[in-house]
Amino acid sequence: MILDLDELYQQVILDHSRSPRNRGELPDANRSAEGYNPLCGDRVTVRLRERGGRIEEARFTGKGCAICTASASMMTDSVRGRSLDEAEKLFQCFHDLLTGAQPDPICDMGKLAAFAGVRKFPIRVKCATLPWHTLRAAAKEQNDVVSTE
Ligand code: ZN
Repeated sequence: MILDLDELYQQVILDHSRSPRNRGELPDANRSAEGYNPLCGDRVTVRLRERGGRIEEARFTGKGCAICTASASMMTDSVRGRSLDEAEKLFQCFHDLLTGAQPDPICDMGKLAAFAGVRKFPIRVKCATLPWHTLRAAAKEQNDVVSTE
């Protein structure tokens, strides 16, 4: 799948979709949630090991398109070591980036800024945000399956 993204951003996303980080089980996870995006068929399970309000480890499993897989890979990289509150803030920043809202000036997106180009493809926005919605459900210990619809 080729998207008309800026070349640099496209490379970051392609790299993470081809070689996803943090994919696999997390046997000592104490929080998890499942997400489903029926428009694309993406399914993702996010597992966290949380201690004292901090995300010590984050992994994901599931089957998604390139955008969803890259997003899950970069999301798990981004939230490891953060507090649950910081992860929630980053969720808001990422959501704003993808929906075109004015991002909070405190948002430091780092590599996640690569997803700004996805905004041009509304149907793909849900692919990119699914892992984040699932993360949020896991952080809040909501065990229902999260759906983008
Ligand atoms: Zn997708």
